[in-house]
Amino acid sequence: MILHLHKGISADRAETIAEKTQSVYYEKDGQFILITPSKLQSPPAEFSEEIAESFAMSSDIQLASKDYRNEVREIDLKHTKIGGSTGNTIMITGPCSIESWEQITESAEFLKSLGITTLRAGCYKPRTSPYSFQGLGLEGLKMLSKVREKYGFNIITEVRDASHVEDVIEHADIIQIGAKAMYDHGILRRCGKARKPVLLKRGFGSTLQEFVQAAEFVLSGGNEDVMLCERGIRTFETKTRFTLDLCGVSYLKEHVNLPVILDTSHAMGYRYGVPDLTRACMAMGVDGLLIESHPDPSVAMSDAAQQLDFNQYREMYKSLEPIAAAVGRKMV
Ligand code: PEP
Ligand code: MN
Repeated sequence: MILHLHKGISADRAETIAEKTQSVYYEKDGQFILITPSKLQSPPAEFSEEIAESFAMSSDIQLASKDYRNEVREIDLKHTKIGGSTGNTIMITGPCSIESWEQITESAEFLKSLGITTLRAGCYKPRTSPYSFQGLGLEGLKMLSKVREKYGFNIITEVRDASHVEDVIEHADIIQIGAKAMYDHGILRRCGKARKPVLLKRGFGSTLQEFVQAAEFVLSGGNEDVMLCERGIRTFETKTRFTLDLCGVSYLKEHVNLPVILDTSHAMGYRYGVPDLTRACMAMGVDGLLIESHPDPSVAMSDAAQQLDFNQYREMYKSLEPIAAAVGRKMV
């Protein structure tokens, strides 16, 4: 159950009520918001004077539920907004990993040529093998900050583990929590205290309930700006890298108040399928599309098979415009 206390109730009193109701809580604009376990179905009578509003919830998907907020949350990404009534679909692209200054400036120039303002590149890569390229780390973050200064882009980059979470929060405009880190409660809780939007990817072995509950860890820490990213789940199928769960996307759109971003690159794993899959996602009217692109994918140091070269990305981008118009979306 979600309890909104009256404005003006002190932090001490909020803490006492939270303790007695086994709640997690945060403060927003002078108001305390308490989240009890969802099995509580009516507000405790002893605090009725202090509770301004209450919402009974049917599961521990609470703050993210449409039963709490009926609209998709609007998230301010500085250059643009998504969610709410914006109708915006944010185009997020860039290489899987930042590899060098030359590579990232080529990517930046490419984004600029299309009017795209959200550049994504990984510095701390959660690789399947310890012997693969692990990313440029802090050096990469510093380069991304320089790219932001030069081009004015929003930078999205990933936190892999607790050792560098502060550095990523400092340098990123949008913090990505990757599929393998979806269960890292240290990262989730720290991002709950950050004042920057978070893009949370679905773990490839996670149910939708687990996925959205991971987002609840960030939301209940007081960070209201969380986007969900579907990037494919593991099924019995081995011909494609993962299986993009579009039914799950429909579920999220119906029941969850967080913007939904689709990552077709990691789902497919092979560039030949990415444009078709991306068009299908745009037709679903999603809030964003994350696609990897690289100046020369054949020499990419990670995810070489799935990244689009600039011609392929441009061609796909153009083909998305009429689909976006047909479903009432604006590409930003
Ligand atoms: C990535 O975004 O480059 C990545 C590693 O993706 P995921 O966390 O979805 O595997
Ligand atoms: Mn990748």
